[in-house]
Amino acid sequence: MPRYQPADSLMSPRFTGVRTFARLPHLQTTAEVDLAVVGLPFDTGATFKVGARFGPEAVRSASHMVRNYNPELQVKPFDVLSCIDYGDAPVIPGYIHDSYAAITATLAPLAAAGIVTLGIGGDHSIALGELRALAAVHGPLALVQFDSHGDLWDAYYGDHKYTHGTPFRRALEEGLLQAERSVQLGMRGPLYGPEDLQMARDFGFTVLTTTELLAHSPAEIGALVRQRVGDANCFLSFDVDFFDPAFAPATGTPEVGGPTSFQGLSYLRACTGINWVGGDVVEVLPALDHSQITAHLAAQVGYEFLSLVALQHLAQSQSNSGSVNKP
Ligand code: MN
Ligand code: MN
Repeated sequence: MPRYQPADSLMSPRFTGVRTFARLPHLQTTAEVDLAVVGLPFDTGATFKVGARFGPEAVRSASHMVRNYNPELQVKPFDVLSCIDYGDAPVIPGYIHDSYAAITATLAPLAAAGIVTLGIGGDHSIALGELRALAAVHGPLALVQFDSHGDLWDAYYGDHKYTHGTPFRRALEEGLLQAERSVQLGMRGPLYGPEDLQMARDFGFTVLTTTELLAHSPAEIGALVRQRVGDANCFLSFDVDFFDPAFAPATGTPEVGGPTSFQGLSYLRACTGINWVGGDVVEVLPALDHSQITAHLAAQVGYEFLSLVALQHLAQSQSNSGSVNKP
């Protein structure tokens, strides 16, 4: 069995204990770890409502509902992967470059050890810090982005180039992404102009608006993503504003008319057969949440990612006659 597993909620109530993701042990080690959850509580890259600095705390608390068996993907992820909650990166509010340095320095030893990272935001600007750490080890990454926004804009308020609306533009410029292997799912809402969607396609991304996404079944989208990503090392970036605000009200830049939680989770679960090296779930603003609706959904997104990584480890260890593949 894996070295590190969650506390058993049949042995101790799930409302007990210090809040870590899925009741995992809080450890800062790279030994005998397959996946590490890392809080990235930076939110001063946001351009509208702020407060996602408390996202990791809220998602961890809601994640105590997670159980070991994923019936949709038919896997027990914690029987496959040794998982820990690594704690938070020491970000500095208001200082995005110092915070990027902190995020990258926190993730670098994990990536170097072949550990898959799951970041919990924070606003979406944090993705650039994650991608810097992961691409330094794994090379330029494919990106699967669930979001109602492309986050590929060049600059805000004149020439301010580092916000939660620009991380993937900067990542492209820094050579951290393979646009031709990348997919954006769920774009919608009023834009500054038609060029907002077109520029992503001009960069080489496959872009599906919410309308286009919902015209396809999860199986069709899974096939599209697999075909697109191929065998590239891949990063999942999941902005909770992908969902309709009725299902994820606690977020900073909500866009109405989006997928339900069931639809969104179904599309995510369809993304099997991908070589995930990292992922994140971002833009949860707990102060705006009601009954932990958004936090529970974000925790479930994290759990589905963990399950997808577990399935991939199982597939790799079968094709490598028993040894789990590490880069
Ligand atoms: Mn985003
Ligand atoms: Mn967004």
